[in-house]
Amino acid sequence: MNTRFSACPSLTGVLLLALRLTAAESPPAMSGDRIPAGGGTWIVHPVQHATFALGWNDKVLYVDPVGPTERFVKLPRPDLVLITDIHGDHFNLDTLHAVCRETTRLVAPQAVAERLTEEMRSRTTVLTNGQVTKVLDFTIEAVPMYNLTPDRLRYHPRGRGNGYVVAAGSSRVYISGDTEDIPEMRRLRDIHIAFVCMNLPYTMTVEQAADAVRAFRPRIVYPYHYRGSDVERFGRLVEQQGGIEVRIRDWYRP
Ligand code: ZN
Repeated sequence: MNTRFSACPSLTGVLLLALRLTAAESPPAMSGDRIPAGGGTWIVHPVQHATFALGWNDKVLYVDPVGPTERFVKLPRPDLVLITDIHGDHFNLDTLHAVCRETTRLVAPQAVAERLTEEMRSRTTVLTNGQVTKVLDFTIEAVPMYNLTPDRLRYHPRGRGNGYVVAAGSSRVYISGDTEDIPEMRRLRDIHIAFVCMNLPYTMTVEQAADAVRAFRPRIVYPYHYRGSDVERFGRLVEQQGGIEVRIRDWYRP
């Protein structure tokens, strides 16, 4: 009797400790802008410049994770990573190793896949512009991203990098990658959420970006990859037409 009685507090203590450890180790929940769509809810979580996380129901997708791991501590680890191009603001092997789980799947263009470790490449689906794959809950189409202006052609030659259209449930999300206002972007249709780049000299002006967005008319557009650009002007130009919601977020917190 005495033994059992005295064992109780220590058993409780062990249980409490176990609970505390479990709480400490449980991953953070996905946070950000919640956007209900057919079949689920998207959660948009800007990280920095070209880097962001997208939640779709219980799945987590990172786009171009680069930079120190502290940027990702408030996020759950990704089920899927999309990489658009080889430049340092889109692709960093050390960051990938730090943030990915052993089971995280990747989608990337060939030029990026060549720079991955063999093990990581074994979890990567390589897509060229126009190719489509199904990964987890997503149908992913690689779409063109490239420069049009003669003195910018050297930054993003056509065919090396991928923009992406990610479909889940009955909605589609467009991620431009680094591009100008190419005809393939203007021809997009049925985009619920669009992430559109703008900055010189690497991509395009806010006027080009706004003009393209007004052509393909997503329901919601997030300017991203906009360092040094007047995103407020982008917002005014897009909203002149009406019917497209512009969401300006701070992608450059220190
Ligand atoms: Zn870039």
